[in-house]
Amino acid sequence: MPEIAFVNDVFLPLAEARVSVEDRGFQFGDGIYELLRVYAGVPFHQRDHLERLEQSAREIGIPLPYSRDRWEAVIAEAVARSGFPDAKVYIQVTRGVAPRDHVPSASLTPTIVVTVRAMTPLAAELYANGGDVVTVTDTRWSRCNVKAISLLANVLAKQQARERGAVEAIFVRDGVVLEGSTSNVMIVKDHGLVTPPAGPLLLPGVTRKVVLGLAREAGVAVKEQAVTEAELHAAEEVFLTGTTIEVLPVVRVNGQTIGTGFPGPVTRLLMTRFREARNMYACPS
Ligand code: PMP
Repeated sequence: MPEIAFVNDVFLPLAEARVSVEDRGFQFGDGIYELLRVYAGVPFHQRDHLERLEQSAREIGIPLPYSRDRWEAVIAEAVARSGFPDAKVYIQVTRGVAPRDHVPSASLTPTIVVTVRAMTPLAAELYANGGDVVTVTDTRWSRCNVKAISLLANVLAKQQARERGAVEAIFVRDGVVLEGSTSNVMIVKDHGLVTPPAGPLLLPGVTRKVVLGLAREAGVAVKEQAVTEAELHAAEEVFLTGTTIEVLPVVRVNGQTIGTGFPGPVTRLLMTRFREARNMYACPS
């Protein structure tokens, strides 16, 4: 089955897709992106992702050339052309192509790229036993609610996590936990769920929103409030949420065991509820 790309209104095999070296995405990291999961051919919470794309575009002043309907049609056609039932779809939008100059000229046409690839989930063993995370100092800019393609700090943080034998790096700023390099963070404290509040220092994750809804439905108390690094270490349970990792239990932070050292009851409940929600979404009946 083919990996598909869509570049400025043209579908083509991913391996043949090209953008100009003068693209501002390449020159400056001047652009935004989204990642959607497709389960059984159906894009999961597509509307939320497209809303966030529009919000990111507004925040940095890129005029999005496509309506919601047009995005949905492009994604549907790209997924259909790929034939992958379980896929990940990236949307990347840059400010456009122009001779290098920090000041963007007024009349740029945004570059639009959509790609579809098969999804390879993380090892089942990680979900069964939980993974390690490490904390790192947050060196990113202060508008992390924008899903910007400039991800250097995230790349270096994830690399540091790998070097330290962890699946994820958690950004901490002035002793306060914000999010992972590609995920949001939740802890269980006094049997309730606590997650850092949405704001400029973290991405409002679509999975975060889905999981908070599932927790409330299941009668778990939910608080969106600041989490300190000390609270992360002392938590009864810790888990991550994200489009690729879904709900991933964490059993060690910086090598220190969390709770019993196994995925806890709230995490397991929400993993199950998330899988049910995901399956229902793809195949409602
Ligand atoms: N924070 C960051 C920095 C991310 O890159 C991601 C993954 N897109 C998330 C949080 C989780 O967001 P979502 O659930 O929308 O994938």
